[in-house]
Amino acid sequence: MKTIEDMVCPFCGCLCDDVTLTVENDMIIAADNCCTVGNAKFMGKNRLKSPIIRKNGAWEETGYEEAVQYAVDTLLDADRPLMFGWSGTHGEAQCIGVHMNELIGGVIDSTTSVCHGPSILAIQEVGHPGCTLGQVKNRADLIIYWGCNPVEGHPRHMSRYTVYADGYFLDNSFRDRKVIVVDVRETETAKIADEFVRIKPGGDYAVISALRAIVRGKGDIIPESVAGVSREQLFKVAELCKTCKFGALFFGLGLTMVKGKYKNVRNAIELVDELNRHTKFTLTPMRGHWNVYGSNEVFTWMTGYPYAVDFCRGVAFYNPGETSAIDILARKECDACLVVASDPGAHFPRACVEHMKDIPTIVIDPFQTLTTTVATLQIPVAVTGIDAEGTAYRMDGIPLKVKKALDLGYPSDEEILSRIYGKMMEVKSR
Ligand code: SF4
Repeated sequence: MKTIEDMVCPFCGCLCDDVTLTVENDMIIAADNCCTVGNAKFMGKNRLKSPIIRKNGAWEETGYEEAVQYAVDTLLDADRPLMFGWSGTHGEAQCIGVHMNELIGGVIDSTTSVCHGPSILAIQEVGHPGCTLGQVKNRADLIIYWGCNPVEGHPRHMSRYTVYADGYFLDNSFRDRKVIVVDVRETETAKIADEFVRIKPGGDYAVISALRAIVRGKGDIIPESVAGVSREQLFKVAELCKTCKFGALFFGLGLTMVKGKYKNVRNAIELVDELNRHTKFTLTPMRGHWNVYGSNEVFTWMTGYPYAVDFCRGVAFYNPGETSAIDILARKECDACLVVASDPGAHFPRACVEHMKDIPTIVIDPFQTLTTTVATLQIPVAVTGIDAEGTAYRMDGIPLKVKKALDLGYPSDEEILSRIYGKMMEVKSR
């Protein structure tokens, strides 16, 4: 039995890097410091043993060599291949994915297009007043959670970086920090807030605009109530924001995937800009998948675009809403699909999943998922952070080295994709 310290949890965008694993007989038997969600990932069982291919409607086991060859033939035969996912794997694998797409003129998209894509559009327009989570932990005396529920979605966010964390520049962090939660319902996070602002669904843009007006000194135009929030509470929140020493606004899909979408985020950024005339204020998207931020970094440094990158013209271009995975699937445009480290079968609209069932869909994933049910081939791989290593970006853009604890003989995403890419290059160079 051995213990391995300072492991990085490969589940959510917090990327907690203080996990201690206990390993016995090539099995993880304990994951200390982890939340229950991360624990479930480290202790996950029922991994696929070998590649499986669908023949005559039934699954058959196959070898890695055959599986790689099938993927090469399928992707090279396709006129409009789509490669989706990438948020649950390491940067080195994402890098090969971009090269593959460029080679075959495909579309590469990550789960960003169904989560924080609007945040990126807003940041491209008006910039990002962000900071590291370390700055928040050590300095922030006001935390706002807007449209997110870290108690359930990012369980250690509050204990590592905000509400319950000790801050170097705060005398009594736990008592001194104020917490504001803005949401359409009283979530578990809202229950521990000093101020819970319940807004009507779709009212985010109006409430942010009202706060901007008050912070700007135009509070006289605010009506008695805005999207269900009283004038009195709006003034109270604006005052808390203006008078704090360091404020940090975190937001989730409750802001990005509701009416207003990227305009909400743009408005929130401009509110933060406005508050920076009075104090120090920052804004950070609560990224979900552990390396979704990394997919945006890798795609951007390689192509100039953060997600939904289309190479069909021979050069990269992007137009979310047209080149994003859901739109391409809904239009039944792609004729082959490679899914890496994500589960669109569980989250995409039904019409998109049905189209995936009608075309060759290849899944590279350690576990059987709902996407497996519509796939023609699945290649099991190592789990980054357990039996594969690589680079990942935390939700605040800090890159971390993700170590491995075991060697179970599975190839990593990077190895499988390298083999597919290598064979594709051989064919293309003939
Ligand atoms: S908060 Fe996220 S990264 Fe941290 S242990 Fe839990 S699931 Fe893992």
